[in-house]
Amino acid sequence: MKTMKAITVIESHKLEIRDIPVPTISNDDVLVKIKSTGICGSDMHVYHGTSPVATYPRVIGHEASGEIVEIGKNVTTLKIGDHVTLEPLRHCGHCYNCSQERPNACIAMKACGAHIDGYFQEYVSIPAQHTYKISSDIPWDIVSMVEPYTIAAQVCYRTKIKKNDTALIIGAGPIGLFILDMFHSMQARCAIVDIVDSRLALAKELGAEITINPLNENIEDKIKEWTNGLGVNVSADAACLPKTFEQAVSLTGSGGRVACLGFTQEPSQIPQFQITARELDIVGCRHQTYRFEPVIEMFEKGLLNPKKLLTHKFPYKQVQEAFTLLETDPISTCKVILEWDNN
Ligand code: MN
Ligand code: ZN
Repeated sequence: MKTMKAITVIESHKLEIRDIPVPTISNDDVLVKIKSTGICGSDMHVYHGTSPVATYPRVIGHEASGEIVEIGKNVTTLKIGDHVTLEPLRHCGHCYNCSQERPNACIAMKACGAHIDGYFQEYVSIPAQHTYKISSDIPWDIVSMVEPYTIAAQVCYRTKIKKNDTALIIGAGPIGLFILDMFHSMQARCAIVDIVDSRLALAKELGAEITINPLNENIEDKIKEWTNGLGVNVSADAACLPKTFEQAVSLTGSGGRVACLGFTQEPSQIPQFQITARELDIVGCRHQTYRFEPVIEMFEKGLLNPKKLLTHKFPYKQVQEAFTLLETDPISTCKVILEWDNN
């Protein structure tokens, strides 16, 4: 039997590169040879044992690029050699949410790398409908960044952000910066908050109009001043703490929209009057719905800046070093990529 390498979290804080059989494909599947994969905060949660949904042992990873090396009999939309990125979610197709074109909110939804095995492995067998073709002109490492941008695209879609809207992004970690890049590409005016100055400097490069470090500035005062006391049109809490969610809501003005991306079980304290009086839309953003194709189009047109957010690359065999770097160096790291094949 042919075997391959797969990065597996055996139990919390225990990572192994295991030999497992190369998967076989059925008629509707394709076999993808993985080229690059991105490490996500949620992979770190699985590794740390803090994911609310993961079970073990688990092959982690859900941000991937690869090349089609085999196709099932029924597959007509792809051919061997195509470059693709991979959908991380599997949905049931017949629950209420699936019928409402919200497969990401499927009651039986399974996420690769958490509920089921993910993409940190040399080959992946996947239904053809869950792959998205992308131009072969785009390097593999950049292609693996399509998925985190789909999360940012979901925030755009859910908050209905548009040109000239004012937007507050709390947190300039990878997701906050992806959201900033996406908002900015849509010509929204962006303010971003973080306690790490190097991240704020990167945010400036990506087009943030104002940056705020709450260690030496007052967020409320700066946002009030910037919006003439009105509050922002859209806010996205990418820091995901009880307190930052409260700030996002309180700094959003009348008719505004607030995106929530957090996993915490701890409650925030939000007066109902803030929501009612300003008729706010507070929207949860869970993974994404149908965002791959529009994001791929933006990548192909060069409308986004993934290269600026890719800070480190490691051969996959050094995954432990990559994780240690992410745990210990929030100042210099943004997106960290594992490379599977240099051909
Ligand atoms: Mn991710
Ligand atoms: Zn469903």
